[in-house]
Amino acid sequence: MDNHNDRKIAYFSMEIAIKSDIPTYSGGLGVLSGDMLLSAAEMEIPLVAVALTYSGGYFYQVIDHDGAQFDKPLRWEFTDEFYKCRKSVVINVYGKPMKVQCWHYNIVGKTGYEVPIFLLETNVDGNEDWMKDLCRMLYDSQRPEIRLMQEMVLGIAGVKFLDIHGMENLETYHLNEGHAAFVTLELLKKLKNIQKVKDRCVFTTHTPVPAGFDIFSYDLVHNVFHDQLPPNIRDLAGHDALNMAHLAANLSGYINAVSKKHRVISEVLFPGKTIDYITNGICVDRWVSPYMRELYDRTFRGWVYRPDMLKNIYQINSVALWTAHQKAKFDLLDYEKSHSHVLLDAKLLTVGWGRRITEYKRPTLIFSDIDRLGRISQGKVQFIFAGKTHPQDNYGKQLIKNIYDASEYLWQNYRVRVAFLENYDMDLAKLMVAGVDLWLNTPRCTLEASGTSGMKACLNGVPNCSSFDGWYIEGMEMDSEAGWTFGPRPEGTSCTTDDKSDANDFYQLLENEIIPMYYERRNEWIDRMKRAIKLVSYFNTHRMVREYATKAYQLEYQPRWKSVKFKWIDSIK
Ligand SMILES: *Cc1c(COP(=O)(O)O)cnc(C)c1O
Repeated sequence: MDNHNDRKIAYFSMEIAIKSDIPTYSGGLGVLSGDMLLSAAEMEIPLVAVALTYSGGYFYQVIDHDGAQFDKPLRWEFTDEFYKCRKSVVINVYGKPMKVQCWHYNIVGKTGYEVPIFLLETNVDGNEDWMKDLCRMLYDSQRPEIRLMQEMVLGIAGVKFLDIHGMENLETYHLNEGHAAFVTLELLKKLKNIQKVKDRCVFTTHTPVPAGFDIFSYDLVHNVFHDQLPPNIRDLAGHDALNMAHLAANLSGYINAVSKKHRVISEVLFPGKTIDYITNGICVDRWVSPYMRELYDRTFRGWVYRPDMLKNIYQINSVALWTAHQKAKFDLLDYEKSHSHVLLDAKLLTVGWGRRITEYKRPTLIFSDIDRLGRISQGKVQFIFAGKTHPQDNYGKQLIKNIYDASEYLWQNYRVRVAFLENYDMDLAKLMVAGVDLWLNTPRCTLEASGTSGMKACLNGVPNCSSFDGWYIEGMEMDSEAGWTFGPRPEGTSCTTDDKSDANDFYQLLENEIIPMYYERRNEWIDRMKRAIKLVSYFNTHRMVREYATKAYQLEYQPRWKSVKFKWIDSIK
């Protein structure tokens, strides 16, 4: 394997969505990690990434005729793009040695600069059968011991891997979410000094609710770790139970949230800690539709390296923009027709909702008063939904059923079409965010740390209609006419609202503003499309990585990422 001893930063993440045929991600967190690494490779950031692989993938989603989700393990294997590392490492679980091996993949930037990713797995000859099976599934909520050991693989075996590959002296260890917190324990063992660990660790928190933190009972932790824990573990990780997020926060010298609003929430979740924020972004090169790319390429040469150029979107011709969007819409509807029994109509305003299906994201919010939605939408609006729910999330499964029932009802009573597309993944996401006319985002206020799918939509000229939450609050501060919002604006850390009044707000917006503008004032609609695109001059991972580089990694002047070639980085605000 190549020598990576110029590396300064290691980035640890439970999931990294490298591309769609490496299915080891569940949603936004993994996609964000992937986007970040793609931008880091373009910007020549001396970074190496560590993640796990899951032999069953996340899963393939099939839905039966009345809306029940079935999950099938994916059949996939590493291809020859991956290099199997010859050396493996050993960690101890339940007092037994367990081998961890690793696949190596390089993300290569346009200049040829490589960001290596180490993907760890335990399916190794010589391991006991249950160990081989350990990394089969992502986020097992029913067997905490599996999750605990997976996180040991990420944090402890991860650091050992870097060590044996000549990266034992990195400046920064970036823990992306609390899952990676065991990195701190391995470093503590090596450095024997808490301050030294803190000087090297950076922690990004991604959840706004304590229930989002991984918590393990000390009984379990002691059983699995045996004598490998520091004696003061309860001071570091919590008195009653081991809290991964608190362990990470207590041993990191820099902590950041992922949006401005999420910082305020996180300050309450981590009392006494100083918390910065670096708002998420997207890698524009990965998420732009072919038609928009062509359009932007013509006007903004090199814009994928300098997404800030999108702020000049008014140089783009409105008719050309509309035409490019229609092409993306036809692509989506083409796909849709061969994957759903609900045949959509290209002339109608098409609203899209796609992301993980989970309670707080409220996929069924707009069906609260279904007859009202039917009356408003009749002959005017159609909907496309997509999203997987975690195989162990029964409530999520019920939500998918509810969408199917609503689809049936709206068709029977109002001839309103609601399609559900199976198996939401990055490919389908890319088609949807570009091909619908309006992107719907419905998180219950304050529960979305950031969200990124709305940025992908904006990039493709698809404005959002969203509750006030996550990144969108900042987007609306920049330009309140770049999309639409419903429901209340959060005050500090709280938000007084209920689903019913949020839904009423939405209906009123759809009926009185969105539908009339789409059909009767096309120029104003196209203006919103442009304003949406302009937001991405800021909400992209090039800007985000630059912030991590300066604030979290404190990279000194690095000719490699601030060379003449990349002077533009300085020009981004
Ligand atoms: C971008 C993306 C997400 C994140 O969606 P949010 O609306 O930000 O939660 C989830 N899944 C896939 C496949 C994505 O591409």
